[in-house]
Amino acid sequence: MRASVAELVVDNVVKEYPTPAEPLRVLGGVSFELQSGENLAILGPSGSGKSTLLHVIGGLEPPTSGTVMLDKQDPFTLGERELAHFRNRNIGFIFQEHHLLPQLNVLENVLLPTIAEGKPDAAVRDRARDLLERVGLSGRLTHRPAELSGGERERVAVARSLIRNPVLLLADEPTGNLDRKNAVSVGELLLELQKQENTMLIVVTHSLELADMLARRVELEDGVIVV
Ligand code: ADP
Ligand code: MG
Repeated sequence: MRASVAELVVDNVVKEYPTPAEPLRVLGGVSFELQSGENLAILGPSGSGKSTLLHVIGGLEPPTSGTVMLDKQDPFTLGERELAHFRNRNIGFIFQEHHLLPQLNVLENVLLPTIAEGKPDAAVRDRARDLLERVGLSGRLTHRPAELSGGERERVAVARSLIRNPVLLLADEPTGNLDRKNAVSVGELLLELQKQENTMLIVVTHSLELADMLARRVELEDGVIVV
């Protein structure tokens, strides 16, 4: 269990992409804060900037202006290598297209984020098995992604996102490809694990049912928070 008070501060984040005409403004000054252990839903129509916002928060895309502070550190002041390490160390990502590697089995996929540091030791392998048990997949360790259902694949992605004890979990429409029953069950699982691991959690979703499970919500429209 993490003891320190981690905190995310998103301050007036603007993101523009260059075009031949004037720059395309995708985020128009987004600000919010998240305390340790808190969770937040981000809602909004397609194209409103939800994925872009997650990419900026997750250190994958620098903002055009404004800042993101995670645990009192601005990741975009880091060099490329340090930034990659920072992401790997602090942030867990869950995407709608689970991004599992088809040639690796379930256990290997969960271990993948740890490979950068060399061969996983016994403690890391135990943690992977434990996480897979907690997402209900202990009977699937040697299955390949193609041999799993959509809901099971998403559960593997949830386990993988937690393998390195992130302070912040970012999920981009994690239940978008699932039927209602599986969507609710993956949503419940995410929240249960978030509580157990005491991480912050941000979930982009179109599902009001999923958003209702989370403590806070913001709504994006044309790159600004409207609610
Ligand atoms: P959402 O996730 O809410 O559907 P996105 O953040 O994916 O929205 O996209 C918001 C807007 O930004 C869209 O109009 C999209 O075309 C544009 N956009 C996203 N990524 C890029 C990029 N790399 N270059 C240019 N425009 C982009
Ligand atoms: Mg998106």
